[in-house]
Amino acid sequence: MKTPTGKLWRDYCDFLAGHFDGKMQKISVNLGLSCPNRDGTLGRGGCIYCNNSSFSPAYCASSPSVTEQLEKGKLFFARKYPNMRFLAYFQAYTSTHARDIDTLMALYEEAMSVEGVEGIIISTRPDCVSAELLDRLRTLPWVMMEYGAESAHDRTLELVNRCHSWRQVEEAVRLTADRGIPVGLHLIMGLPGETPGDMLATIDAVNLLPVSTVKLHQLQVIRGTRLAEQVGEGEISLTITDAEEYAALCAHIVERLRPDIAVERFVAQAPPQMLLAPSWRLKNYEFVHLVERRLLLLRSACPH
Ligand code: SF4
Repeated sequence: MKTPTGKLWRDYCDFLAGHFDGKMQKISVNLGLSCPNRDGTLGRGGCIYCNNSSFSPAYCASSPSVTEQLEKGKLFFARKYPNMRFLAYFQAYTSTHARDIDTLMALYEEAMSVEGVEGIIISTRPDCVSAELLDRLRTLPWVMMEYGAESAHDRTLELVNRCHSWRQVEEAVRLTADRGIPVGLHLIMGLPGETPGDMLATIDAVNLLPVSTVKLHQLQVIRGTRLAEQVGEGEISLTITDAEEYAALCAHIVERLRPDIAVERFVAQAPPQMLLAPSWRLKNYEFVHLVERRLLLLRSACPH
């Protein structure tokens, strides 16, 4: 079965097309905030796989203001894509973990005031959001919340030191969707101790929630993390190591996912100097082609 746009599944462009006319480009913004799982508010040391510099683009590494980061990002993308409009993406660490709501709102409003920026996406933990903040956020022209959920299994969340439960994910999603704010969930496939059946059970749990998008990636072992030590010591072994096998799992995930939920991506690629494993060196679109091939095989084997 194909989506109305002729694709094999609903993707992030389909999701954005439901909200904006024309192409939108995300620009990452680093607010310089920490994370409650690192600064002692909830825990220390963070999630075992986390090294935040592996997913913060260079253009927001040392820029002091939101405006400056967005202007740099606009310049970076303008060379590639003229006439682009933008979404400010508050991605690094926990982008709602600040002293007070007024401080946060001033930063989000600053982003909205930059020419060409038409909305903001805030990435955070499910336990770092409140009804009060969401009530303020829904007054902005366009906002989306992206929560790090990772797995629906509490035993896994504990093992990787997330310091939150699946129930907190459910609560944050409902609190947000009840206010008409779209919600995306970030999920990691191949977390320690999880079988493919466990990962598909996470998808089943996501299907029960008012979620608009999911963003998946394979577990990556990043230099300098607790996970790297545990893998090095043989305490944990990676279950997703082969790109073809992971593509086959992603095909099953697509078949299982509620069709109105858009998939933003299946893989992540940390910079080569930081990544220990798995090293696939595949571009996003190359991996998407692998999933498409696997999905067509799956559907031809089971036409119903
Ligand atoms: S993955 Fe997110 S929640 Fe976990 S330590 Fe890193 S910034 Fe904090």
